[in-house]
Amino acid sequence: MAEDPATRSQRVSTFYDLMGTFLDAVYGDNLHYGYWTDEHDQATMPQAQERLNDEIAARLGVGAGDRVLDIGCGTGGPTRRIAHRTGAEADGISLSGRQVDRANELAAEEGLDRRVRFTRADATDLPFPDDSFDAALALEVLVHVPDKTAALIEAHRVLRPGGRLVLAELTLTRPMGPEQQRIWSGMPMSTPPTAEAYTGQVRDAGFEIIEVLDASEHVRRSHRATREAVAQQREQLSGSYGPRVLRQVSNAVLDLQSVAESCLGYVLLTARRSGRD
Ligand code: SAH
Repeated sequence: MAEDPATRSQRVSTFYDLMGTFLDAVYGDNLHYGYWTDEHDQATMPQAQERLNDEIAARLGVGAGDRVLDIGCGTGGPTRRIAHRTGAEADGISLSGRQVDRANELAAEEGLDRRVRFTRADATDLPFPDDSFDAALALEVLVHVPDKTAALIEAHRVLRPGGRLVLAELTLTRPMGPEQQRIWSGMPMSTPPTAEAYTGQVRDAGFEIIEVLDASEHVRRSHRATREAVAQQREQLSGSYGPRVLRQVSNAVLDLQSVAESCLGYVLLTARRSGRD
């Protein structure tokens, strides 16, 4: 039976509230993959994660005075980077109260709190009026959202006509087997659509497609980098979690990673709300 949306939202917030210390240690302020240009690219995982933020920033088409919405903002690393890079103002939303508090703290530490704000909210029910934003992004968020169409329609509603949406999301490249399904649905995850199906869903929500970039090869090194970071943090975090919980938490991340590595690709999709700029 499909999980009802309120239960899923609760599971996502509990997941990020409980896993927060571990995820912060493994991923830093960017709870997402890295982007490497080619096989000669020597960037570290943190550098490659900032590179992915910059790839997104470049596609948002915003500058000083514009307003950006970061849908599913984590602790706000991408939001802050985009605000610095583009000069735009930004709002970020997440289901996790812990993430929102941390994101506001970090923005204040960087002196960005007049331009960047974080609020606890659901992507399928955004607390903003119509036409509020010049651009929006969702970076590895819709993988948690069963009703992606509801989230896309909300993004469309809060964007002004001509405003851009950039999605950086996992895509299905091979059907998951029963064991992979079990791991995936044991976490607050939804099986991602293929890149083609995503593109159709974005179009059906009222967007014009500008670019669909298959970034699977660009992000591939993130799998190994994540395994290495998990191994490193296991030692250091035993004090925060205790050995049994730490084992469960790190195995959860590694299991998800192995499913992603075998069945999932990655798309960087840029679209635009139809209508006059
Ligand atoms: N984009 C951030 C965080 C990615 S982790 C980054 O790249 O650093 C996934 C994020 O999606 C978490 O912050 C989680 O709270 C958020 N999320 C998942 N489902 C959501 C929903 N329905 N509404 C709002 N945020 C959601």
